[in-house]
Amino acid sequence: MRFWVITIFPEIVYASMISVLRKAIDRGLIDVKAINPRDFTHDRHRTVDDEPYGGGSGMVMKVEPIVSAINYVKERDPETRVILLTPRGKVFNQNIAKEYSKLPSLTFICGRYEGIDDRVSYFVDDEVSIGDFVLSGGEYAFLVIFDAVARLIPGVVGDADSIAEESFSDGLLEYPQYTRPDYFMGYGVPEVLRSGNHERIRRWRRFMRLKITFERRPDLLKNAKLTEEDRLFLEAVIRGRGYVY
Ligand code: SAM
Repeated sequence: MRFWVITIFPEIVYASMISVLRKAIDRGLIDVKAINPRDFTHDRHRTVDDEPYGGGSGMVMKVEPIVSAINYVKERDPETRVILLTPRGKVFNQNIAKEYSKLPSLTFICGRYEGIDDRVSYFVDDEVSIGDFVLSGGEYAFLVIFDAVARLIPGVVGDADSIAEESFSDGLLEYPQYTRPDYFMGYGVPEVLRSGNHERIRRWRRFMRLKITFERRPDLLKNAKLTEEDRLFLEAVIRGRGYVY
């Protein structure tokens, strides 16, 4: 899958390609290219920003270098989906990550300063935010989305099962995980996980996913795919009953 990033700070993008993502790039599963809007300016200072019309503080990124960068990418990769990173976009989540991971190519536009001249919105397909807060630059939003999307591409994460049961994979949060030692400062690992009984472990994990989701993010349950067994577990959770796995 191809990722293009339109940014005046390509070094942030390239410096972050480490670990699992670096391996995926080296194995040819994903390709990341940063395009600098400064390369599409025509003045001596390679100016990409200017004062806002109407006055006010800060600078606004100019529309021409950004649209020239978009055109440069589209000429080489006509299939690409162009995404403007902005706090006013739809909020990114796991469903959008899944949708994007099935596409052949994505192009992200990273704003800086007070943002980008609003007319850029006529040249993009989506406007996406990573949450209700303001970053100093779109590069950080790109890295969040890139990581979430890339790890869903087959082969990027070694163990496909680890993705299947992760938080949000089917609308629920993940169950608690433990590793050695059995006891740490008086806190033990649940006995069921050391029982070796796969069916008990499966039921305990499912029960805990429902319990944790109910306690911490009950809003997620509205869209979760629940089985008959899940409904029984959930009823036990709601009634505050313990569960014998
Ligand atoms: N003045 C803008 C506003 O109030 O909405 C904020 C501009 S912000 C300082 C600079 C750039 O960071 C934005 O153009 C956008 O690309 C990126 N950015 C900031 N917060 C973001 C968020 N929550 N999601 C995605 N991108 C964000």
